[in-house]
Amino acid sequence: MFASVVLDIATRALDGAFDYEIPRELEAECAVGATVLVPFSHREAVGYVVATSARPPEGLDAARVLPVSRVLAPSAFDQAAARVAFWMAREYACPPCEAIRPFLAPGQTVRVRRASANAPWELVCQKSGPVDERWVSLAEKGGSFSPRANAVRQRAVLQALESGPMRMAELAATLPGSASAVAALARRGVVNVEERRRVRGGDTTTLRSAVAARPERLTQGQKDALAAIARACDAGRGDVVLVDGVTGSGKTEVYLDAIERVRAAGRGALVLVPEISLTAQTVGRFRSRFGDDVAILHSRLSAGERFDQWDMVRQGRAHVVVGARSALFAPLRDVGLIIIDEEHEWTYKQESAPRYHAREVAARMAAERGCALVLGSATPSLEALERCREGTWGGVSWTRVSMPERPGAARLPAVRVVDMTEQFSGGNRSIFSAPLAEALQDVAARRQKAVLMLNRRGFANFLMCRECGAVPECPHCSTALTYHERTHSLVCHTCGRSWPQRAYPDPSTRCPNCGSRYLAAFGVGTQRVEDELAMLLPKDVRVIRMDADTTRGKGDHQRLLEEFDAAECAVLVGTQMIAKGLDFPEVTLVGVVNADTTLKLPDFRAAERTYDLLEQVAGRAGRGEEPGQVIVQTYWATHPAIRAVKAHDRALFVERELSERRDGGYPPFSRLSNVVCWGRSEADVRRTLDDVSRRVRERVGEAAGWEVLGPTDCLKAKVKDRVRRHLLVKSPVDSEPGPLLDECVRAAAPPRGVSAAVDVDAYDMM
Ligand code: ADP
Ligand code: ZN
Ligand code: ZN
Repeated sequence: MFASVVLDIATRALDGAFDYEIPRELEAECAVGATVLVPFSHREAVGYVVATSARPPEGLDAARVLPVSRVLAPSAFDQAAARVAFWMAREYACPPCEAIRPFLAPGQTVRVRRASANAPWELVCQKSGPVDERWVSLAEKGGSFSPRANAVRQRAVLQALESGPMRMAELAATLPGSASAVAALARRGVVNVEERRRVRGGDTTTLRSAVAARPERLTQGQKDALAAIARACDAGRGDVVLVDGVTGSGKTEVYLDAIERVRAAGRGALVLVPEISLTAQTVGRFRSRFGDDVAILHSRLSAGERFDQWDMVRQGRAHVVVGARSALFAPLRDVGLIIIDEEHEWTYKQESAPRYHAREVAARMAAERGCALVLGSATPSLEALERCREGTWGGVSWTRVSMPERPGAARLPAVRVVDMTEQFSGGNRSIFSAPLAEALQDVAARRQKAVLMLNRRGFANFLMCRECGAVPECPHCSTALTYHERTHSLVCHTCGRSWPQRAYPDPSTRCPNCGSRYLAAFGVGTQRVEDELAMLLPKDVRVIRMDADTTRGKGDHQRLLEEFDAAECAVLVGTQMIAKGLDFPEVTLVGVVNADTTLKLPDFRAAERTYDLLEQVAGRAGRGEEPGQVIVQTYWATHPAIRAVKAHDRALFVERELSERRDGGYPPFSRLSNVVCWGRSEADVRRTLDDVSRRVRERVGEAAGWEVLGPTDCLKAKVKDRVRRHLLVKSPVDSEPGPLLDECVRAAAPPRGVSAAVDVDAYDMM
């Protein structure tokens, strides 16, 4: 047998796969997906088997092919996954070994290294191993046995075991001295002691509101969605179904039923949810339907927990994988369905190599495995909507199913937009408008719950007039100018122009629109909201703050939600992280303190992001019997995104936004890639990126649909003392910009101290 092996070596020249012979004694272990040690250029290297074959590789003399030295880890991926990894390497311009790493067991790092130039090569393995633990249970005859009257501990142990088996460690902790009692009972055959493989990461607490019973009747929208999904599954081509359902329309219920059907056919399902909504609430719903057949994978688990959950999937003991972005790479053998919930979420784009987008990889994977892909969202991405409008994309069908209503009595909440410039000119200098303050007091009086969201992105790096809401814009690009404190200048991050503070209407004194002097860096913190709430509301209203500061620890996010769940009357104050997935029927009011900050980001997706966020957070209200109310505070009440949220009129917004994107040649009508270059020496960074830029322009020439913008400074022009500049490249939808950009970067050969990265289909261009 022969193996094709991708080496895990950081030299781009060695990107391809190399052929080795599999010694007879390794044949069983050395399958596709195995991590192996192979001889390579006078030393040994770690690699991954991507293919095996019985015939010697073509053009090679079988006698000269070197043998695999050792198998370091068993198979973590199959042939189809290997093909997806190669596709990722090409698409996202990274070495194949980097594209393979996400498929490996969590915590597995295997490297060869040597301490010094003359020292021998040694192998460093880090693997989270499984853990065994001892369990004690009553034996058959345990029930009829009765210990002697003075055997107090034995009695206590037997009593404790009556309600079921227990871990020895737990028994020992609750009943001191129980170890010897257990030993004595075991000798008599009254109890059994056995080693069981412990599966870490399986525990979930249950929120009072989490356990939803299976609904009696599905809505028409749900039935339509399930029928479309069934068709996509049966077609076996990798067809895509977009479930476009308003918040609370029952999308999760659709996923559960669809998975049930796939499980009945003996196949498994991968379910991706945004990391932040991977709360006990979501997990609980999957657990209550599929029990121990569910494995959970996300980054808040410890290394050991992640390993155990992953290993459970690999061993075929769990067939429903629920997790964040990386769960896409779980070693599920027979995938019948892939689901991506909140498909529009930015967290599906990975910001470090491999810089993949989970939606795109999932589509590829579905096609490769012949299974269906379901995308769900209340605010689908324009990419997904546009592909559904086309009907077919990438050779498979894309179908949109709409679920415009909430089941039963739940209604979409009424949205009220409050113009903060009017509040300000009316003399209200508080961060709460009069209507929001009043509504909050109402919630307190009626002993209900409210959620207050603070839009924190783009925090404080643009200037805004508090009197008219104007934000200084670039006269050439209609992009909000960003205020750079370090240089006291206003910078346009679309065209790269900048103005010293005084050449443009002075940012610290005058508004370019109305001349007002109330021009200030914009931003309010959650702490400040919490303080103002304390003054506004009676003392017995619980105020719970949820932001990056209060959710540092592993269980913090969950604990705060449980507090909010348990409270009788409470206000949850938080950043974007509270917008997602929470389903608390008692929430009757949702307030958005500042809707605008994301609108002013110098990014072509700014309006889409703002709309999505507002629609999501608005969806937290009125999920129960009580009608909900949403109050959105804004300085820009006329913006299409704000108007669309108010009218719950997504179609209007999408039409406008799509036509603007088409005119500007932005995604989804093009691909936008970002080449970022950074280093301590500004001169070196400039020289390198100018070289890259020249090479890209040469290669692209006059090709239709290609456009090179920049180079300019990044929005974050300096990070940790490293200067950052970037180049944006637009290319046609059916182009493959990755390899071209990668070649240009490599040809420019960045000097020592300068790094460059190619981000294909970039989301974060800052
Ligand atoms: P989404 O995922 O779209 O936000 P969910 O699936 O969480 O929606 O459903 C919202 C609420 O409505 C949940 O409490 C759920 O149990 C309930 N629900 C879902 N489908 C139905 C139905 N057909 N009939 C009654 N209640 C339903
Ligand atoms: Zn500009
Ligand atoms: Zn003004």
